[in-house]
Amino acid sequence: LLEFEKVNKYFGETHVLKDIDLEVDEQEVCVVIGPSGSGKSTLLRCTNRLEEIQSGEIRLDGTPLTDPDADINVLRQRIGMVFQSFNLFPHKTALENVALAPIKVKGLPRDEAHDRANRLLDRVGLAGQTGSYPSQLSGGQQQRVAIARALAMDPQVMLFDEVTSALDPELVGEVLEVMRDLADEGMTMMVVTHEMGFAREVGDTITLMAEGEVVERTPPKQFFEEPTTQRGRQFLSKLL
Ligand code: ATP
Ligand code: MG
Repeated sequence: LLEFEKVNKYFGETHVLKDIDLEVDEQEVCVVIGPSGSGKSTLLRCTNRLEEIQSGEIRLDGTPLTDPDADINVLRQRIGMVFQSFNLFPHKTALENVALAPIKVKGLPRDEAHDRANRLLDRVGLAGQTGSYPSQLSGGQQQRVAIARALAMDPQVMLFDEVTSALDPELVGEVLEVMRDLADEGMTMMVVTHEMGFAREVGDTITLMAEGEVVERTPPKQFFEEPTTQRGRQFLSKLL
């Protein structure tokens, strides 16, 4: 569904993504791990064009996303992204945060957008909080609103970049639970995370990055029991 072909990204002189070849299948949960600075965030950010690549191609359903004349707004509707920081609009309620883009970008009538937003907030366990402002919500609740907001555009793929890293430990589980449900419903997902329990249980594949390269891509069982590469063994030994 999502294909990376010989993707190269530089920040000035720094070669951050090196000939990345990767295919994420429909309904796959592709967990991306690797040391700090290995290029995980950059890979996701290039996918929805928050960063531009210098060569190669990224395709969704066969359509190149990285063409200079691809419509960035359309592609961002097809690819939802959730970050470590929730970035909710502080002066809008949870419901308004979720309904905003469908109204403004998709031109959905207000009532319809609100109905949808209500359903999505229910789905992430926040049916009782639709009228709350971000400041009245816990970090875990805010992050679940952010997930609902991304889902409101009805994306084909969801990208998650360390979405639980900023949360208090007791709030991590509720967010992972929502992601697990999404995975069970068949959403195609790329997930950068340090949560190895989630990686192992929910991931279909583990993609290990190091210094801008994909160095291992295996099913979790194999990765956590017997990585096929030296890099994989190294990474694993540091976790234990
Ligand atoms: P972490 O686990 O710390 O989040 P990461 O794997 O997500 O790391 P990236 O944030 O993708 O790593 O960074 C990859 C490399 O690109 C690093 O060397 C980083 O310093 C560099 N980099 C990232 N963003 C920029 C930027 N906007 N300008 C210049 N260099 C950048
Ligand atoms: Mg990162």
